[in-house]
Amino acid sequence: MIRRASAVPLVLILAAGSALAADLTEQYRPTADKLIAAALADTEGYNRLAYLCYRIGNRLSGSPGLEKALAWSVETMKAAGLSNVRVIPAKVPHWVRGAESARMVTPVERPLHVLGLGMSIGTPPGGITAAVVAVSTFQDLARLGRAGIQGKIVLYNEEYQGYGPTRVYRSTGASRAAEFGAAAALVRSVTPLAMQIPHTGEMSYDDRQPRIPAAAVSPEDAMMMARLVEDGVPVTVHLEMGAQMLPDADSGDVIGEIPGREHPEEVVVMGGHIDSWDVGQGAQDDGASVVACLQAVALMKKLGLEPRRTIRVAFWVNEENGGRGGVAYRDFIGDKIKDQAAALEMDGGAEAPRGFGASVDAPSMALLQQIGKLLERVGAGEIIVGGGGSDIGPLLRDGVPGLSERTSGAHYFDWHHTDADTLDKVNPMDFRKNVAALAVMGYVLADMPERLVAAYGGARGGPLR
Ligand SMILES: [Zn+2]
Repeated sequence: MIRRASAVPLVLILAAGSALAADLTEQYRPTADKLIAAALADTEGYNRLAYLCYRIGNRLSGSPGLEKALAWSVETMKAAGLSNVRVIPAKVPHWVRGAESARMVTPVERPLHVLGLGMSIGTPPGGITAAVVAVSTFQDLARLGRAGIQGKIVLYNEEYQGYGPTRVYRSTGASRAAEFGAAAALVRSVTPLAMQIPHTGEMSYDDRQPRIPAAAVSPEDAMMMARLVEDGVPVTVHLEMGAQMLPDADSGDVIGEIPGREHPEEVVVMGGHIDSWDVGQGAQDDGASVVACLQAVALMKKLGLEPRRTIRVAFWVNEENGGRGGVAYRDFIGDKIKDQAAALEMDGGAEAPRGFGASVDAPSMALLQQIGKLLERVGAGEIIVGGGGSDIGPLLRDGVPGLSERTSGAHYFDWHHTDADTLDKVNPMDFRKNVAALAVMGYVLADMPERLVAAYGGARGGPLR
């Protein structure tokens, strides 16, 4: 029989006095150790991830892959014994890539490694052939002006400076180039690793500018073309993209929970996004995270743990190209926002866990440090300021305390949004440690007597789209 965690503090109060009893570390150590032991021995979670990656595969909003993944999510949450499993409906953008290719025509005929950017328009049938003008920054672009850019393909060859700073060329580069009359935009892939692999990702258009097609090129192809242009060698590229936007599709978030034993109306939610780009398998982004969150709650269920508050797992939809799932979830919560005790998002892959970032006040940080101590044995005890994510953003903006799980992130952007984001990149032991970290953090947040308090303006930690 499993003794409930709530029985432990009473023992400690008698044994060690009230000062120690207030310490979450000692109060929850027995339960945390059980959850960690279960997580480190668990094979079911990784098997579930393998099914998602190999039997379903990638799952862009509007795709049959996503439909399959949602049905599987419902089935798997039910199989894990979760209650109130349901789909929160959301309309999602439906972008399809179509056929695409590019080649350098001069000075040498050579195929290029390209991947259209998500939400881009296609080229006219037959494609575009144009001279390439290369820039590193938007300042370079402005310096060239319309005289240097009109009718040409703008290549952004900005070296990787970290994901946040560098992806601005991917997300806004097309419209910035179109402002000067560019015919198309090519963007050096947002990655620290050059392995001839193009990385896609979301872009958006500025409605004041004409829409031009945009694609990512491998870092190697970007560097080659930029160097040729710099040397005064005319570079011409032929680009063909069949991308198109279809009407919004029906989709939704999938949620399931263990209802709270004392305060079922109060909810700790943790999750990630079930959608992915249309390449690879969405293994690290974000399949491993959703399955790790599910498995963390599945293990609580297996151990017979029933926290004071409801612990809910959420598979949000459409994080990659619209964020409609996060908004639908906020709408679903409605006026019950005060009952949302905490929201935890995981969207940075499942490499070795380090700990958690949190957007909470100072006393709440101290509580989280106490929980962190329980996770030192799996390397996940570090609690730092700043937690959030795009799916829980709408909750955090309305005052819900937000957390994000953090990992070493050593290789995340090597594979991110590529054909190489596949199951083999997820180390099974690292995955289990993530499950352990999520299980302990999720359980204690849902069970501890206190509640976290959000830091003012705490919605930090930008989206990892
Ligand atoms: Zn993601």
